[in-house]
Amino acid sequence: ENGTRGNELDSWDRDHFFHPSTHMAQHARGETPNRIITGAEGVYIVDREGRRSLDAFGGLYCVNVGYGRKKITDAIAEQASKLAYYHAYASHGSEPSIRLARMVIERAPAGMSRVFFGLSGSDANETNIKLVWYINNVLGRPEKKKIISRWRGYHGSGVMTGSLTGLAGFHNMFDLPRAPILHTEAPYYFRRTDRSMSEEAFSQHCADRLEEMIQAEGPDTIAAFIGEPVLGTGGIVPPPAGYWPKIQAVLKKHDILLIADEVVTGFGRLGSMFGSDHYGIKPDLITIAKGLTSAYAPLSGVIVSDKVWRILEQGSDEYGPIGHGWTYSSHPLCTAAGVANLELVDELDLVTNARETGAYFNEALKEALGGHRFVGEVRGEGLLAAVELVRDRDDRTFFETTEKVGPRVAAALLERGVIARAMPQGDILGFAPPLCLTREEADIVVDATRGAVEAVS
Ligand code: PLP
Repeated sequence: ENGTRGNELDSWDRDHFFHPSTHMAQHARGETPNRIITGAEGVYIVDREGRRSLDAFGGLYCVNVGYGRKKITDAIAEQASKLAYYHAYASHGSEPSIRLARMVIERAPAGMSRVFFGLSGSDANETNIKLVWYINNVLGRPEKKKIISRWRGYHGSGVMTGSLTGLAGFHNMFDLPRAPILHTEAPYYFRRTDRSMSEEAFSQHCADRLEEMIQAEGPDTIAAFIGEPVLGTGGIVPPPAGYWPKIQAVLKKHDILLIADEVVTGFGRLGSMFGSDHYGIKPDLITIAKGLTSAYAPLSGVIVSDKVWRILEQGSDEYGPIGHGWTYSSHPLCTAAGVANLELVDELDLVTNARETGAYFNEALKEALGGHRFVGEVRGEGLLAAVELVRDRDDRTFFETTEKVGPRVAAALLERGVIARAMPQGDILGFAPPLCLTREEADIVVDATRGAVEAVS
């Protein structure tokens, strides 16, 4: 019976389902190894054939509390039976949305004031762009509108947020608007061209490049800078020493707002509640999503600082209610999931576990793979890690200019029962397991990764 139903599902999938980020023709021809997931528990997912895999990427680095948490599913069910939906326009609200706003601000870095809820990281960054423009209109600076992002940054795949994203694969063939978005150098120390530079010197070089861009464009035209505390989809690259203080000094000098995109790093991934706290970043706006609900329901948010909030108040006093919002902003089912999720993060002390098990995991990965001839670098922070594969660690030639092996290593890893992500640009294997990962589970991931790298090399 399972087989028949399976065949039917396969053909419906090929014929009717338009998957995100997928080779459409190969999928339609049945050439891609499509996998239908039917269940999950803890750090494991189970597919239709009953195969279990340890999900060392937590879905798309979002299932922070792990799978199958009854506390969250119960909270969603209870809220659904009481009030499945009401909107939040014009001062309306629902209890879980207000509670969650309070919980987010309690956990946010100092100086944060209010949270606006959306549904995806992309729409939250769209909100950020609109707020930044609105703010400079309220302040009477209509020319100050450009936004600087970084090559290799990932901020979504909407029209404007796809432009913010600094990865060619997300721009190709889409005619996304280039203006008013600019991209500056990625803080990617491993790939620096001048090998003699120290980390601090490379951070200074990134800050100098930013300063040059601002001067060339005119400081009065630059509204904001957006960056992930740790570059995520662009390769899982923690910042080199001194990077954020140097960047912030430049932004401060030119009165440029700082948007910290904490979609991946928010709520504990790095071993601190926020990446901003981890690196001493003082943002004006913070993007949150993924770990806010651990993906039990779609929810994102923009946290605004006291300074930003005062300007927004001034704006509505002068121009009336803000014309921005979604039907599903602060959807009660999603905010109820968020409340239960953040309670669980505290109850299980997952931020501490991300720090401690993260340090253990990163050390073990380095020890197991750091010396391998095809491994250029093992890097990470908290429960976020990357293995960068190179053709030759000594002459530092990269596979991507010849032949990508990341997807082959990821496939070999899957055969060993572990899911990692072949990151979209470069030859990088990414790890972002649920924050409840144990040391035993970390060992399983490390052993399987070593086996997979050896099998492919
Ligand atoms: N910002 C960052 C840092 C992300 O990693 C992502 C998604 O991976 C997004 C924004 C976009 O989020 P979404 O896919 O929910 O639109």
